[in-house]
Amino acid sequence: MLDFTKEKSNCMGCSACYAACPVQCIKMEPDEEGFLYPTASPKCIHCEKCKRICPIATPNVEEGGMAFQKSAWCAVTKKYRIWKRSASGGAFSEICKAFGDDETIICGAAWDGLRVHHVCVKGVRNIAALCKSKYVASNPENVFAEIQQYLKGGKKVVFCGTPCQVAGLKRYIGNQDKNLLLIDLICHGVGSQKVFEACVNSLSKQFENNIVGYEFRAKGRVYETDHLQKITSDNGNKLLVQNDPYMQLFLKQLSLRPSCGGNCHFRIENRVSDITIADFKGVSKVFPKLYLSKRNFSSIIIHTEKGNLLLEQLKKNMVMYSCTIDDIKEHNPLFYRQTWIAHNRDDFFADFISNEKGAISKWCCEASEYKLSWKGKIWCLLPNIIRRQLIRFVQKKHSK
Ligand SMILES: Cc1cc2nc3c(=O)[nH]c(=O)nc-3n(C[C@H](O)[C@H](O)[C@H](O)COP(=O)(O)OP(=O)(O)OC[C@H]3O[C@@H](n4cnc5c(N)ncnc54)[C@H](O)[C@@H]3O)c2cc1C
Repeated sequence: MLDFTKEKSNCMGCSACYAACPVQCIKMEPDEEGFLYPTASPKCIHCEKCKRICPIATPNVEEGGMAFQKSAWCAVTKKYRIWKRSASGGAFSEICKAFGDDETIICGAAWDGLRVHHVCVKGVRNIAALCKSKYVASNPENVFAEIQQYLKGGKKVVFCGTPCQVAGLKRYIGNQDKNLLLIDLICHGVGSQKVFEACVNSLSKQFENNIVGYEFRAKGRVYETDHLQKITSDNGNKLLVQNDPYMQLFLKQLSLRPSCGGNCHFRIENRVSDITIADFKGVSKVFPKLYLSKRNFSSIIIHTEKGNLLLEQLKKNMVMYSCTIDDIKEHNPLFYRQTWIAHNRDDFFADFISNEKGAISKWCCEASEYKLSWKGKIWCLLPNIIRRQLIRFVQKKHSK
């Protein structure tokens, strides 16, 4: 049986071992930091299947889409409703629509109250719950085995997750199935579910409301910033929050899983997925005409012929601009390069384990409610051409 108790950075919690165990002796259980790890019961027959299936214990010999001429795109959906419910430009929804229909199974991360877990839904019409990034490690539950059953039954399946989850699923399913479309993300890393819940509790206390719903990267009618979260209280009140404690810890790389940060094995250019999606970073540098756009954009990187077959349909439903893989690498280096994990991450977790509430107030500054000023509201309503002229006017005035 795999033993991650000594070297936790070698387990990304994908659950391939859990799904593959022939005697179901593996359980995925949270450690004291709140990350899931496999543990085996005495039923273990030492067949070592878990080791063979683990993409870290037995590194991959597959080469993703290496032989294929990759293409990269900056894209945004033409539908406002889809853009609004998506973290970036709605690439995930549009890819699902291009690949699937009402019978297709779509698997992605959804909220279960304040917990994040992977679920399968039937039909592209029902994917709203999967949309938007949840920057918390998603519990894979039993979806690998479910997906295998769907594929055996001849269904088409889309799976979207972090690069390590996709690597685990691909290893579990074995040979690439023509009915399975794999989408991965450019991933900063995943944070702890336990830390997330403690941060939400501290917000509940601060705003004197019991928070029952949470949304990362809340959007208004017009794209403003990635750094607003929306919380919903049990009395139905909704509030936009800036300086959210969870996001502070996440962005400072303090609450990441040990296998993320500088330890990720899957942050590489040759992905095992068919398509990689992400934010399009540096949009005004690569496409100056998109400066001040009222929407934010997705990166779409196509790695395989299967992904490429969707391109024509995507072009109908999205506004797409072709760019180079180097544009993506320059502005979004987490596509292919390691990041770091905070040098004091373990100090934060030591504090957190001994006193959850105390650690949140010690390591985070206080959150505040965000309200758009009347100037901001008018600014959002102005057409782009007027916004650009106003900016030029102000810049000229300052340069005198
Ligand atoms: C943990 C995490 C870290 C990320 N880090 C970066 C980054 O550093 N740079 C960058 O450019 N982009 C990053 N992204 C991707 C980005 O936030 C958007 O998800 C991506 O641009 C897709 O947006 P969209 O508008 O196409 O689709 P959306 O509708 O926003 O689709 C989101 C998709 O992401 C999946 N997803 C959401 N939360 C999770 C989760 N916790 N675990 C696994 N899958 C999840 C959902 O299943 C859904 O399929 C990250 C996403 C996540 C979840």
